[in-house]
Amino acid sequence: MADSATSTPRLDVLVIGGGPAGRAVAGECAGRGLRTALVDPQPDRPFTATYGCWAAELPADLPASVVAARARGRAVAHRTHALGWQYVVFDVPALRTHLDERLADVVVHAARATHSPGPGRVALEGGGDLTASVVIDAAGRWQPLGGRRPGRPGRPARAEAEQTAYGVVVPAEVAAPLVPPGEALFMDWRPDHGEGGWPTFLYGIPVGGGEVLLEETSLARRPGLPVPVLRRRLLARLARHGIRVPPDARTETVRFPVDHPRHDSPGVLGFGAAAPLVHPATGFSLAAALELAGPVADAVAAHLPAGPEAALAAAREIVWPRTARAVHGFRRIGLEALLRMPPDEVPGFFDVFFDLPERQRWAYLTGRDDLSGTVATMGGLFASSGWRLRRRLVVPAVLPPLRANDEPAGPS
Ligand SMILES: Cc1cc2nc3c(=O)[nH]c(=O)nc-3n(C[C@H](O)[C@H](O)[C@H](O)COP(=O)(O)OP(=O)(O)OC[C@H]3O[C@@H](n4cnc5c(N)ncnc54)[C@H](O)[C@@H]3O)c2cc1C
Repeated sequence: MADSATSTPRLDVLVIGGGPAGRAVAGECAGRGLRTALVDPQPDRPFTATYGCWAAELPADLPASVVAARARGRAVAHRTHALGWQYVVFDVPALRTHLDERLADVVVHAARATHSPGPGRVALEGGGDLTASVVIDAAGRWQPLGGRRPGRPGRPARAEAEQTAYGVVVPAEVAAPLVPPGEALFMDWRPDHGEGGWPTFLYGIPVGGGEVLLEETSLARRPGLPVPVLRRRLLARLARHGIRVPPDARTETVRFPVDHPRHDSPGVLGFGAAAPLVHPATGFSLAAALELAGPVADAVAAHLPAGPEAALAAAREIVWPRTARAVHGFRRIGLEALLRMPPDEVPGFFDVFFDLPERQRWAYLTGRDDLSGTVATMGGLFASSGWRLRRRLVVPAVLPPLRANDEPAGPS
């Protein structure tokens, strides 16, 4: 249960949110001898999402036990592309155990943060507050301490762009017509679901234990494509490939924003999806959060002797150096280009993207502070595109963000 602030000795670090990002950064801080606490309304609730990332993004200090499956990445647009990289899917309970082992010296409060009434202070629902030299908001899409989260002053009135998906977990042999053994289907844009309208793709990944997750995904839409549409499309797509979903198959629903503004509340560091570390054009954030947790803790530990403001500024410089801010801006332009792209042109765009040299694809997908790599990729995309696609890529850079996408079309 949450302690009242008055009875708690001053903390060095207070982390709001017990998702993977909050647990990782809290554990790293405690590991450096910082007095650390973590606040989450349900700190014992297990993680339920299926998490994955590219193998080369895995932080070196993660034990092999956190990986449930590895497979060669493949993408299908109008053509099939071998990506040249391995994809890993986490053993989510093992990842959770690994992160929790590092929380041994972290005080965990079962409470909900409501806002930050002043520097280093966090108010809790139901009364009381906690104080710390450095406050980290790692509460995901909710950003309880974020000054510009949806509905607050300064936040645009338009709907959020969201990634949505609906998936089923089936035995690997059942999924084999679409996801052969040893492969991870990053994207399959073939319209095998038989519907026109908003473009969606199949994501198909081995999840370990001889099972494969098959997920119909809307990469980004403002607002997100409704999950029932994705479910209908998934079942139609699978039926077209002769895949019958067992009645007791586990299912997964995905919905999260990809265009949160940067967390820039004074006196608080946004971390994880709350930062947002979410790549606006892919939705990935987990690998970046795991990778940055240690450097953030290093920065706080090194600069705290000079005062809380110095520690916060140093940690912020780790999460948002100038290059990362610029890359985030370019990625947001990429998101707007996708949101505005006519549906029938989307697969062609991905053929051009996946034909780019490996280093350019890698830079765009993973290089969150690789400004020159991101610019080179965008230049490469432009150079490889026809005039129509070039216009689609460039025009969104000079337009305000799209207010909303049209309603989804039904079966054609
Ligand atoms: C089904 C699904 C699959 C996904 N797959 C991937 C993937 O494969 N790879 C990837 O990179 N990303 C994936 N994502 C995106 C995902 O959002 C992030 O990767 C990841 O969960 C973000 O971690 P986080 O710790 O930053 O935030 P979250 O996991 O959202 O955790 C936030 C925590 O904050 C707590 N909280 C909320 N409000 C408050 C409050 N007011 N006070 C205190 N605590 C609060 C919540 O209870 C929660 O525990 C997926 C998302 C979903 C939904």
